[in-house]
Amino acid sequence: MTSHDVVVVGAGFSGLGMAARLRQMGIDDFVVLDRGNDLGGTWRDNSYPGAACDVPSNLYSFSFALNPNWTRSFPSQTEIWDYMRDCVDRFDVGGHLRFNHAVDEARWDDDTQRWALRAAGNVYEAPVVVWATGSLSEPSIPAFPGLADFRGKVFHSARWEHGYDLTGKRVCVVGTGASAIQFVPQIQPVVEHLYLHQRTPPWIVPRRDRKVSSLRRLLYRRLPVTQRLGRLRIYLTFEFLLSVFIGKGERRKGVVIKRALDHLKAQVPDESLRKKLTPRYEVGCKRLLLSDDYYPSLAQPNVEVVDAPVASFTAHEVVGQDGIARPVDVVILGTGFEAAEPPYAEHIVGRDGIRLSEWWKANGVEAYAGSSVAGFPNLFLMIGPNATLAHNSMIYMIESHINYIASALAFLRRPGVSTVEVKPVVQERFNESLQAKLEHSVWVEGGCGSWYLDHRGRNTTLWPDHTWKFRRLTRRFRPAQYTVRA
Ligand SMILES: Cc1cc2nc3c(=O)[nH]c(=O)nc-3n(C[C@H](O)[C@H](O)[C@H](O)COP(=O)(O)OP(=O)(O)OC[C@H]3O[C@@H](n4cnc5c(N)ncnc54)[C@H](O)[C@@H]3O)c2cc1C
Repeated sequence: MTSHDVVVVGAGFSGLGMAARLRQMGIDDFVVLDRGNDLGGTWRDNSYPGAACDVPSNLYSFSFALNPNWTRSFPSQTEIWDYMRDCVDRFDVGGHLRFNHAVDEARWDDDTQRWALRAAGNVYEAPVVVWATGSLSEPSIPAFPGLADFRGKVFHSARWEHGYDLTGKRVCVVGTGASAIQFVPQIQPVVEHLYLHQRTPPWIVPRRDRKVSSLRRLLYRRLPVTQRLGRLRIYLTFEFLLSVFIGKGERRKGVVIKRALDHLKAQVPDESLRKKLTPRYEVGCKRLLLSDDYYPSLAQPNVEVVDAPVASFTAHEVVGQDGIARPVDVVILGTGFEAAEPPYAEHIVGRDGIRLSEWWKANGVEAYAGSSVAGFPNLFLMIGPNATLAHNSMIYMIESHINYIASALAFLRRPGVSTVEVKPVVQERFNESLQAKLEHSVWVEGGCGSWYLDHRGRNTTLWPDHTWKFRRLTRRFRPAQYTVRA
């Protein structure tokens, strides 16, 4: 058993950003446990061809660690991963990272007022746990009948099999979300045939990725304020999108719809294909996507867009809900992640032996400020329920949580304070107001099923307001909203 002041679980942007702040606060006795064999989280796991961010990295990066060297406005996964390594060096947190440490249980002990975490055959104990395991880290694999009997290769986009050569293969891609639209154009030129099974065609607007010139990079290095102004411009542009989603921006919605439909028309001359690719739900109900090469790749002769979900698999075929069986060698699941009912809740056991997954099953997935849950003292989730975004950079939300948790830790270091636990009534009121806002949003009323919603149709994932309001909410820890024990 090893004892620490803080245990952080997860070494993605959240866990690493938190680690940097702990060092800045002078808290050096902490570890960051990650189940993977390296840091990076999302950017370690999603290495599929074409993987890149869809918020320009001038903003999709820490405000306290600007990178003047981005080579493109939407850099690739490898460049983002390198940036994360660079942050680890800059803030000297490498020595705190423990890889191949999957936490299978974190249990609160009310007698000792400490958490005990089981990982890699060891027990890590601490009064405070920061749970930063990500909202999009568990691949969602639908239970398709017959998939287990399929004799070809099957893999998820977040577990790309780089050793498997797709050249000349008949490939079935399931899904048309943010990952599929990035990898389909990359694999289309090499495969023999590509069947793209779609449930619903996404709304797509131009991406306009471009190289960052060496002159601009020099400017960013010499005059960092210019990069900060660039960040601000991107932030405001994305922030304006919110009105498209929460129902007050009819004019702006019209602009987005026109841009998307013009893009489709310009890139897909064939009318019948265009019909298949025309979205049938309200814009924004699912994530609005950015791409310049997805539509052109679908117009190639070796691609068939199957406008029918997958029904089942046989040993060598994929069978669509159109009743047609298509022979394939490999199935690539671009089926997204388990987000609305997060699987990590299985691992967390709070006061009186309550398991977070059971608590959420009974009461619905919720937290206060996306971080604290009643019954789970001194536990801080990062990007927990309703803290994900559909319209702006997640790093902004992550930094808000870093501020909040740092402020809570400072409070916990005061003499006579040993535990804080959010009051049930505070959590309840917070979520009532959140759900009231979500009720009439496009995410709930927009006529689509999405990963934002749980099995009851409740949105448990998205922050439904301006991100600066989340920043205001999390600016400092408010002890009055918590039961404080000595
Ligand atoms: C393909 C893809 C593209 C994206 N692009 C963007 C984008 O352009 N802009 C944007 O704002 N957001 C984007 N996102 C969202 C992205 O997930 C967040 O921006 C951010 O990277 C989340 O960081 P995180 O540290 O919270 O979680 P993650 O990056 O998911 O890291 C969580 C870590 O926790 C570890 N972990 C999980 N369970 C355990 C356990 N039980 N024990 C120990 N360790 C565990 C995992 O191994 C992982 O390393 C994208 C997501 C995906 C999947």
